[in-house]
Parts: sequence; structure tokens; C-alpha cells
Amino acid sequence: MSDPDLLLPLDAALGRMLHDVAALPPVVVAAGESLGCVLAADVVASHTMPPWDDSAMDGYAVRSIDVASASRHRPVTLRVVGEVAAGHAATEAVGPGSAMRILTGAMLPAGADAVVRVEDTDAPAGVTVLPTNVSIRVAVPPGTSIRRAGSDVVAGDIVLPAGRLMAAHRIGALVAAGHATASVVRRPRVAILATGDELVPAGEPLLSAQIPDSSSATLAAQVRDAGGVPIPLGIARDDRADIIARLRDGIARADIVVASGGVSVGAHDEVRLAFEAIGRIDLWRVAIQPGKPLAFGRAAAAGAADASDRADARDTVGRADDTEALGRPVLLFGLPGNPVSSFVTFELFVRPVMRRMAGHADLMGRTIVRARLADGAGTDVGRQTYLRVSLSRDRQGSFTARLAGGQGSHMLSGLAAADGLAVVPVGVGDVDAGAEVDVISFGWDPGMGDGR
Ligand code: AMP
Ligand code: MG
Repeated sequence: MSDPDLLLPLDAALGRMLHDVAALPPVVVAAGESLGCVLAADVVASHTMPPWDDSAMDGYAVRSIDVASASRHRPVTLRVVGEVAAGHAATEAVGPGSAMRILTGAMLPAGADAVVRVEDTDAPAGVTVLPTNVSIRVAVPPGTSIRRAGSDVVAGDIVLPAGRLMAAHRIGALVAAGHATASVVRRPRVAILATGDELVPAGEPLLSAQIPDSSSATLAAQVRDAGGVPIPLGIARDDRADIIARLRDGIARADIVVASGGVSVGAHDEVRLAFEAIGRIDLWRVAIQPGKPLAFGRAAAAGAADASDRADARDTVGRADDTEALGRPVLLFGLPGNPVSSFVTFELFVRPVMRRMAGHADLMGRTIVRARLADGAGTDVGRQTYLRVSLSRDRQGSFTARLAGGQGSHMLSGLAAADGLAVVPVGVGDVDAGAEVDVISFGWDPGMGDGR
């Protein structure tokens, strides 16, 4: 950017990032793998459901006319001519004066037009031996306890329209309509690079001057949570050549490359320079707190992101001027190193971009909760501030937000205690206790009740 001191407002920054981002191409995946994806095509029923009239109850299939006079005091006795269970077709019809034992989900035998529940007969429930006769204690109109063919879905119906989010409660409709697979918008592939001489992989003992690389694991979880596929690029030293080599690997294999750390103006902040070496920077520094030193740019890769483990897909990255000419665009995010900042900036910028790629109309995919702030807080008047807060709800359903531990951008304990981010807009400096705020909810954990 020409003016190095310019802080871009959040909406303007996000607008530029989303500018030419479109939904990724469709792919066909197994029904269960579609979870969390957006349908790329209508799901059309291949067959009618139920395919035939079936019984909604365990009982006796009858001709309603035969039992029209039946009552508890004057039951009607019918001859039992057989049984039909789910998965079997009756071998004979129900004629005058007869009945057939029927189980839930079984095909209605020819001749019958109603089912009498076993509770409304003299037959004991759950007994396997078939009685010779059955006493019917109620009159039933035609259609009683019968599920009509096509009462759920008719062949050719659109059971799930394109654009619908696949969720657990929709998988059954897909499979019942005759499909083992679904055509969905491909999940974005997001490569993740940590940078810093101080970082060691998760779980390793710390030598002097070292800390764990917590951001790689956090960002991978955020990628999954946003419906994407994380691709770890490991930890780069604060060395431009190392960073560039790993970024190139990511560009060849992903739709988005997210680096964390090394993006500020420190002597060892090499990520922006690396971005410039392999692509271009479109913007950096956004008016938010935490997360001001954020860089965004673009590079180009040859070949599809999902056919990328081929060696020949590497080293094909265009330089600053020819990124468009060289094919598949890859978005580059340089997130700040402080782990709370990288979390927040992913949430605010990478997540909506990923969701646009994944075909979602709602780019945030979060519930906003209106809450009363229990604690006052001082914020930077020039930047939109995101406070880490816990939520609790009173009997009337009103939410209270409390500052969740320390608000320092290195304080993962505060982030871990939070249920969401309270938004303090630009123009507001100090917020007083009692102020109303919007909270971007991560999925409130009511089990904690008091917000801890
Ligand atoms: P930087 O932007 O590289 O100067 O990093 C800012 C702060 O974030 C420093 O205290 C780093 O040690 C810390 N940091 C950077 N990357 C990570 C990471 N992957 N995990 C945890 N802390 C990090
Ligand atoms: Mg660093």
C-alpha cells in the first residue's frame, strides 16, 4: 500500500479480499462426507417414499367394512390368514371376514384398507405364535394407521435444493431419495505456515527461548470449523528462503495459504517480503484490535489445488506482475503472530473468504448475541475492538458478557475462557459496564453457567 500508516477499515479490507472470490467447483462425495458442505445441485428423488402403502403400527390389516360394528363390548372376530413383516410382501390377500397380522413398515396386503393396532385387539402384543382368530375391539375408517405411498416424497421431487447446507438432519433425506453420494461445492484447501525461530512443534520440551507453536493447531481447527481442509506446512525459521520454499509448497496444494507471525515491521519480519517475492500484496494493516498487522495478497499456481502433490505443480508460481496470467489464483493471508490475534483475524477474514469459496450465502456463519457488558473496558478509539468474553443468560433470557480473563493478545487462557468476541466499534473509546454490545458467539457453552 502506498501510505504505510493507513489502517484500512475492516469492511473495506474484507471487501477487497472477497472481491473476486467465487464458489469452488462441485465435487461428488459420499453422503456422509457431505456434512458441512453446500449442495452444488438439486437432490432429486429417484423413487417414491414410501414406495407402497405400508403400516404405521404393529397390528392387524383388515377390511374396514368388516369391523364397522366393532366395539369394546361387541368385538368382531376375524380369521387370521397370515402375517406380513417389514421387508416381505404378503403372499395372499385379505378377504371378507379375515385379517392379517402386520408389523410396522410392512407392505399393506391386497384387500386390506386399514390397520387395527394390536392394543385394540385381544391378541397379546409381542407373541410370535400366530393366533387362529383375532377379536377386533374398535371400528376403523379406511386408511387408519396406513402410510400412503408417496406421502413423504414422490419420484422426481426436489428433496434438497442446490445451495442447501448439508447437515446431519438432511443426510437421511438424501439417502432415502436413492443416493449414496451428493454433488457439493468443494471444500477449500487451506495451507497453514507458522513462522518464528522460537517455535517448537506441539508437545515438544522447551529449550531456552522457545515456546510451543500453538497457532498451527488452532488455525487447523479453525479451517475445519469453517468447512475446509487444513494442509500443514510446518514451522519456518525467520528466514526468507525457508518461508518462500514453504509458501510455494502451500500455493501448489491449496486455495488459500495462511502464514502466522513475521508480518509486522520487526527486523525479522520476513513474511510480507516473501509474499512480494512469490506474488503480490494487496493490502496490509487493518483498523482492528487485536490484529492490526495483517497482510493479504495473491499468487498464482498451475494446476488444480486438489491434484497438487505432483512435483511438477511446484515452482510454477508467478511473480508480481503475471499472477493473473498464470492461472489458478491462491489467496495469501499473513496473520499476526500473537496467537489471539491470529485467531481473531482468521475468524474475521479467512473464515468469510473460505465460506464464500465453499458456497455459503452467510459468510460469517455465526450467531450474534446482544449482551450487556458486565465489565468496563478501555479500547482504541480508532480500531474496531474484539473483546474476549464469556456469556451467561438469566431466567428472562438476557445475556451478560464478562471479560474472559486477560485481554492481552498473547493470552490464550483468556481466549480459551471465552464464548465469543464482543464487538466495540470504531469511534468508541472506553466502554462502561452496563453497555450493550454485539457478541460473535462461538457456540455458547451453557454447561459452564457462570461463564467460566
Ligand atoms: P511476530 O509477529 O512473529 O513478531 O510474533 C508476535 C508474537 O507471537 C511473538 O511473541 C511470537 O513468539 C508469537 N508467536 C508467533 N507465532 C506463534 C505461533 N505459531 N504460536 C504461538 N505464538 C506465536
Ligand atoms: Mg516472529
